[in-house]
Amino acid sequence: MLNDSTIAGDSSSLLHDSFDREHLWHPYTSTINPLPTYKVDSASGVRIRLADGRELIDGMSSWWCVIHGYNHPRLNAAASHQLGKMSHVMFGGLTHEPAIELGRRLLEVAPPSMHNIFYADSGSVAVEVALKMAVQAMVSKTGDHSRTNFVTIRSGYHGDTWNAMSVCDPVTGMHGAFGPSLPVRYFAPAPTVKPGEEWDQADFSPLEQIVEQHHSELAGLILEPVVQGAGGMRFYHPEYLRQARRLCDRYGIYLIFDEIATGFWRTGRFFAWEHAGVEPDIMCIGKGLTAGYLTMSAVLTTAEVADTISRGEAGVMMHGPTFMANPLACAIALESLAMLREQDMAARVGHLEERLKELLAPAEGMPGVREVRVLGSIGVIEMEEPVNVAEFQKECVKRGIWVRPFGRNVYIMPPYPISDDDLATLAKETINCIRQ
Ligand SMILES: *Cc1c(COP(=O)(O)O)cnc(C)c1O
Repeated sequence: MLNDSTIAGDSSSLLHDSFDREHLWHPYTSTINPLPTYKVDSASGVRIRLADGRELIDGMSSWWCVIHGYNHPRLNAAASHQLGKMSHVMFGGLTHEPAIELGRRLLEVAPPSMHNIFYADSGSVAVEVALKMAVQAMVSKTGDHSRTNFVTIRSGYHGDTWNAMSVCDPVTGMHGAFGPSLPVRYFAPAPTVKPGEEWDQADFSPLEQIVEQHHSELAGLILEPVVQGAGGMRFYHPEYLRQARRLCDRYGIYLIFDEIATGFWRTGRFFAWEHAGVEPDIMCIGKGLTAGYLTMSAVLTTAEVADTISRGEAGVMMHGPTFMANPLACAIALESLAMLREQDMAARVGHLEERLKELLAPAEGMPGVREVRVLGSIGVIEMEEPVNVAEFQKECVKRGIWVRPFGRNVYIMPPYPISDDDLATLAKETINCIRQ
């Protein structure tokens, strides 16, 4: 352990590695003036242990995915067990029990009309696959090669690969940097009616108008149901999704739900479509799927979409990643699903929601705070101005918590097993950081 004066300076070589700073790219960082990174030695439960021995209460679930906490004995055991058999085997022409059993279990919790499962490597790739599915199915169904475009809403986030980028928010997303090299999509304004507020049909009209006007070019509509994550941490009314379903049916375009962030109970339901009770034609899942152990995602779709693709020109779904259905990832995902089944997750996340509402209420009306909102286990404090991430995080680490804001949003979404005491500390210190 270092003494307090070294720690307070935050300049310890234990924490800020110079090789890392010189040579390693971190997400969305400059190589000339990188944001500080904190070196982690290990993590367990809801605690991240830094190289200097300090422990931080995790408020991020490592970007939505570590749903059961770190270093979980059951998930570790599932991984070890599978390692003893095989960590990987190609999925072309071969199959295995973890993939089969995971598929069976996923269909139990997925929207009832989901029938076919495509395992992919990451969230972004799942979005690519979903968009490709929609295009292949549309062209096969209509014979019309011009129906290949997409419509979505602003403030969305769907990942960092090419087509995923093209449906991200055109302002906060990467449209500026990539300009005309990105496919041009149609964007409706972000919904403004929030869950629990009175529905206003005017909220939906702009999307309706776009689809009415351009349906002959469209293969699909892609949305993050109810919660827009990395595009702005915004919550919107489930009625929007019911209207979207009707609109897609009217014009015969595919509805894609990107549940990569919202899945696995984050919003208080297993998947967020349940808030609205309408099913998509294609659904992407990822992040929480493997409880933060390995990268894996999946795209689920209806028999209708799958068979339409198979009747098309290519006759097959045109995608097949090297690590498709990685057995190690599947085995861990299976154990994670079992853990979710064994708990009353609705009650667990309901409790977190109640506590977060109480604990974050003191931030309401604080200088610089625009809005405080909570849904499921997601608590957001939206500021008037963008947050200085480096300064904010320095303060967080000093106070023993791990929170990473983006843009104007300071948010917490801890692993589900967090204790009431840890959650209270996390919320209190987050508010203290804002006060600073
Ligand atoms: C994180 C995220 C993605 C991208 O997932 P990666 O695994 O980072 O590629 C896509 N869509 C949504 C809604 C996400 O939150």
